[in-house]
Amino acid sequence: MSRATDGLLARAAERLGTGAVIAEPGDMEPYLTERRGTYHGKAAAILRPADTQGVAEAVRLCTEAGIAIVPMGGNTGLVGGAVAEDAERQIVLSTERLTAVREIDAANNTMTVEAGVILADAQAAAREAGRLFPLSLAAEGSCRIGGNLSTNAGGVHVLRYGNARELVLGLEVVLPDGRVWDGLKGLRKNNTGYDLKQLFLGAEGTLGIITAAVLKLSALPERSVTVFAGLPSPTDALSLLTRTRAALGERVSAFEIVSRRSLEFALRHVERVRDPLSDSHPWYVLIEAASSRADAGLEEAAEAALAEALEAEEVADAAVAQSEGQAADFWHLREAISDAQKPEGASLKHDISVPVSALPAFIDRTVAACQARLPGIRPVIFGHLGDGNLHFNLSQPKGMAPDDFFALREAFSALVHDNVEAMGGSISAEHGIGIMKRDEMAARKQAVEMDLMRAVKRAIDPDNRMNPGKVIALDRGAKEP
Ligand code: FAD
Repeated sequence: MSRATDGLLARAAERLGTGAVIAEPGDMEPYLTERRGTYHGKAAAILRPADTQGVAEAVRLCTEAGIAIVPMGGNTGLVGGAVAEDAERQIVLSTERLTAVREIDAANNTMTVEAGVILADAQAAAREAGRLFPLSLAAEGSCRIGGNLSTNAGGVHVLRYGNARELVLGLEVVLPDGRVWDGLKGLRKNNTGYDLKQLFLGAEGTLGIITAAVLKLSALPERSVTVFAGLPSPTDALSLLTRTRAALGERVSAFEIVSRRSLEFALRHVERVRDPLSDSHPWYVLIEAASSRADAGLEEAAEAALAEALEAEEVADAAVAQSEGQAADFWHLREAISDAQKPEGASLKHDISVPVSALPAFIDRTVAACQARLPGIRPVIFGHLGDGNLHFNLSQPKGMAPDDFFALREAFSALVHDNVEAMGGSISAEHGIGIMKRDEMAARKQAVEMDLMRAVKRAIDPDNRMNPGKVIALDRGAKEP
């Protein structure tokens, strides 16, 4: 350990209190490893301040010592964003002790929470106050609000409620120089100049550390209906989305697509997954609609829309959940797909979006190109059709050596992402950029966009101390820690 770090750790232990500094290699390990194992980091220590002032103090100490800071929430990001890369000159700052729900203002439909609150706990706190915090994703038992906001997380309810950016009214941020910006306003109208909070949302910790946020709440659903339908093609799924939204309006809260192969992998490898339909179909959709009024005729409207879709042969068969348990089973099937790919061998993952209207053509064109490039390749396609966001994953051909398949990673990423770009899409719809997509993003964005991003980074973090090397690489003229 360098002398600078030594002094920093001693001062941090003194000022931030017991339990705030972790420097033993074994204890540091969980903060250095990503769950998929793609990245393994190194850091001088882990700092765990317990409140905003503690975070500000930690940042000031790091600045004095010339040490860079890698913020960490629940470490579920999977693109290397929270991975520290220098055993002497970087520390991980974990928000896991900032867990207070500071205020719930039910009449204002807002909740002020600290950055380390686990997403599922934020949802539960809102529910106890008779409100809904609608952000929902499979990692909600471990991801934290600060991480969700820093990655602009989406999840299954974007269709109705928007992604994290649209769920935030105010922020509190510790800046790279240790000052605290208190922007914790719960206002829906505030036209006083630049909307600064938007800079920090989705910034992946490169501009400052989010310590608290004012989140927007909604009415709790009184009734919901969940449907699992089998259909011939993504084009039919898109027609069904249009039909369902015409019938149910903004009450449609989730519209997920699942390919037959994705379902088969889940049936084969994950416990308690059952096929809700008796016959096999090439594609499936999982639809959820919810209403805050018990008397809204939700089920009737959903069943009428389904009957029309069956008549039009957009849908081949459908099951409507008859109980909360059955609805949970449909969702279990959908969420099992991520874990079901591993036992099938090597897999290349793409987290992309295109305009919703372009999805069927994107799928047809890209599947055909992948199969032409490598006969036997197995596309595993699922995701949030209603948002134009797909997990376009590729499992290796049966019998191929995993390393031979991984050697094709760049070729397939280029193929998939070229099609995404040609259709006006995005190469990162959910997980963010981190280390994984940094260089590719820079290569694909317009030069003017990259110039603007670098200008913002340099203006707020001139010494490049906040999560250096993530999202954006500054050019040679930039000061590195
Ligand atoms: P971390 O992984 O700890 O950090 C992510 C990034 O944010 C890092 O760059 C980190 O430095 C930065 N950061 C963390 N906290 C702060 C802070 N307080 N201030 C500043 N920067 C900070 N994502 C989706 O969008 N939609 C999904 O449906 C979805 N499903 C998932 C399912 C599974 C099973 C898994 C494992 C992940 C999924 N993700 C999804 C990705 C991931 O859960 C989200 O990106 C999540 O928002 C990350 O939160 P976290 O607390 O784990 O952040």
